[in-house]
Amino acid sequence: MDLFEYQARDLFEAHGVPVPRGIVARTPDEADQAANSLGTPVTVVKAQVKTGGRGKAGGVKVVRSPRDARQAAETILGMDIKGHTVRQVMVAEGIDIAEEYYFSLLVDRAERRWLAMCSTQGGMDIETLAVERPEALARIAVDPRVGIDAAKAAEIVAAAGFAEADRDQVADVLVKLGAVFVAEDATLVEVNPLVKTGSGAILAADGKITLDDNADFRHPGHAGLKDIAATDSLELAAAERDLNYVKLDGNVGIIGNGAGLVMSTLDVVAYAGADLPGQPKPANFLDIGGGASAQVMADGLGIILSDPQVRSVFVNVFGGITACDEVANGIKQALTVLGDQATRPIVVRLDGNAVVQGRAILADYAHPRVRLAETMDDGARQAAELAADQTQADDVSKEA
Ligand code: GDP
Ligand code: MN
Repeated sequence: MDLFEYQARDLFEAHGVPVPRGIVARTPDEADQAANSLGTPVTVVKAQVKTGGRGKAGGVKVVRSPRDARQAAETILGMDIKGHTVRQVMVAEGIDIAEEYYFSLLVDRAERRWLAMCSTQGGMDIETLAVERPEALARIAVDPRVGIDAAKAAEIVAAAGFAEADRDQVADVLVKLGAVFVAEDATLVEVNPLVKTGSGAILAADGKITLDDNADFRHPGHAGLKDIAATDSLELAAAERDLNYVKLDGNVGIIGNGAGLVMSTLDVVAYAGADLPGQPKPANFLDIGGGASAQVMADGLGIILSDPQVRSVFVNVFGGITACDEVANGIKQALTVLGDQATRPIVVRLDGNAVVQGRAILADYAHPRVRLAETMDDGARQAAELAADQTQADDVSKEA
């Protein structure tokens, strides 16, 4: 999960990284009040969007009064920056910037270690710097078992070419940023710019943090950092039920067991739909995992059938740890709960562990919307055709 700048600022502050004070505002009124309560002669109003280059896009404005902060917020709120709508701004203490530096620490998967990057030429777009002046960007390998200790920080600031007089102070901040990386289970901590102020202080003026979602279990506080407003409501409902669900653009709902099987099911369905009217495509990814219970199956089917874009559903299960009779019972359970709400056809392909029992359960249940497929290809074709037919039928009834 990527964090907003203000969230990164808060985490930095919590770990002792020097940062400017900052207050989030969702309306021009709040921006006015925020500037007022900061009480500094200069404040900066900054768009909070999860993308870089806000400055160039007009999303960062330096202002000199609460009234101007209000006006800047009026301009920035609602702005579109690289496809991200600005819903909040951070009103931050203005900094007297003397110099702008760059620092980042990230997981270097290919090398199985971490990588620190640092430059005295910060502020600008770092990708450009890396291409145009690679010698100005120091790249230092970091051992994850050690992290950024005082020695590593000294090595980084020396490699980046900081002036002798600034090295100790910058190194101190790098040690703290390394501590944020470890303590919060981040995969990226980036500061651009890390600034030196007119009075010689070092401050993290813009921060970006990516948290490792796999470590969420040991950070109860991270749940509160999630941007609920930007998360798809079906994905939220799925997450509440611990389902491995990703919303996609198409109209064929997909359920399978095992990420690999679900991925290939998406491909087979897209392929089957390519030549059909309206080109039906997968509506979602949903992996119910190994050993899924009837309840998990019922939850998954419930989520998929509540997606208004879904025209048909393809359940593709290869029973291993997951038994086909559990899956069949889950389908029954879901359809019993949903009743008349289950308006879409469901194609079920079962194979493997307890397939005979699973098929028998569905045959006995004889639900008018459920049909059995012999193979994965056959099931994908049926589901794609049903989605195409349903879409046409819906269009006709809309016109009538
Ligand atoms: P980004 O464009 O999304 O990376 O946003 P930044 O927060 O890095 O801001 C872009 C630029 O705005 C910085 O590199 C600074 O030059 C400038 N800036 C940001 N905050 C201040 C501030 O408090 N005072 C001054 N003078 N400039 C600032
Ligand atoms: Mn920046």
